Amino acid sequence: MHTPAYAALSAGAPLQPLAIARRAPRPHDVVIDILYCGVCHSDLHQVRNDWGGARYPMVPGHEIIGRVAAVGSAVAGLKVGDPVGVGCMVDSCQACDQCGHGEEQFCRQGPTMTYNGRDRLSGETTQGGYSRRIVVHEAFAIGLSPALDLARAAPLLCAGITTWSPLRQHRAGPGTRLGVVGLGGLGHMAVKLGVALGCEVTLVTGSAAKADDALALGAHRVLLSRDAVAMKAAAASMDLIIDTVPVAHDLDPYVRLLDVAGQLVVVGALESMPVNAASLMRGRRQVSGSLIGGIAQTRELLAFCAEREVYPACESIPIQQIDEAFARMERADVKYRFVIDMASLADA
Ligand code: NAP
Ligand code: ZN
Repeated sequence: MHTPAYAALSAGAPLQPLAIARRAPRPHDVVIDILYCGVCHSDLHQVRNDWGGARYPMVPGHEIIGRVAAVGSAVAGLKVGDPVGVGCMVDSCQACDQCGHGEEQFCRQGPTMTYNGRDRLSGETTQGGYSRRIVVHEAFAIGLSPALDLARAAPLLCAGITTWSPLRQHRAGPGTRLGVVGLGGLGHMAVKLGVALGCEVTLVTGSAAKADDALALGAHRVLLSRDAVAMKAAAASMDLIIDTVPVAHDLDPYVRLLDVAGQLVVVGALESMPVNAASLMRGRRQVSGSLIGGIAQTRELLAFCAEREVYPACESIPIQQIDEAFARMERADVKYRFVIDMASLADA
């Protein structure tokens, strides 16, 4: 079957309408009618081939909310009409130790990414959520609570889980002094989830104009990264920092914000970045990374957000405005996640 989509035909080209093929459902597949898809900075990195390995045409999109339109013969847990979410992965080996304990993102054979990946059986390039329909293995289509507001939930599937996972890994909660670097899609979720978990949250931003928004999102303090005096005064004041900056940068100014045994978790730039070992040694500080999160933990996050009514700040756009959204994302002018209303695709 064919489905309408928006695709990049080469690196950096504007996205354009394109009909793409979707496979007929296999026994364990679900066919999903997409209602909403969030716009992640990774989509921009990928269409530009910032990370190498891009295959075109490329349909980005890995923050997908939709409804089940059809199910394969062996699907038991989902039925037509169910609301579902799909994140950055659509399959994995489902047999290795990592898949076994719910960390499919670290599948020993490599998970199948939602787009710009390779289907495990056919070898076809996977295509993402900037489209009308998608077909995924049932294990990666997460059934949603009827209490969840579908129009505001899409960013939880990547921005949400990518920040929830390190918060949970490092047991963030009451008493945790949390720093969040960068107030964009990931950063604003880190602030909201940190606040919801009871942390004392400081936003570290390059944009003075975002201070009021950060406080409105629940942050307790705002630190301007270029204010050297304030940065020095805040030295050794944080237990955990989540760094969402999408470009390579010196990590040392943020490491210095950590108290003894504090942890800086990099989730933003996938690049080499300088870190000063002396700053690590003085205070036994640690720098680590984190990649999205597993399906079980994504379910946990979705249940938490439905119950606690923690939602991303979504700016709804028609798909025709995707290039403008990318341009604003590049200027750090996102408030705080674009979400494509897929009803607009009918007009494409
Ligand atoms: P975003 O919405 O564009 O937000 C990034 C924020 O970083 C900006 O709003 C800005 O905040 C700050 N920033 C600092 N320097 C910047 C620059 N040169 N250009 C743009 N922003 C800059 O991005 P996102 O969707 O949150 O994604 C952030 C990064 O995480 C991307 O590199 C993405 O690929 C990566 N990512 C990683 C994972 C993972 O699994 N680890 C998952 C999803 C995304 P201020 O104005 O407050 O400074
Ligand atoms: Zn993403």
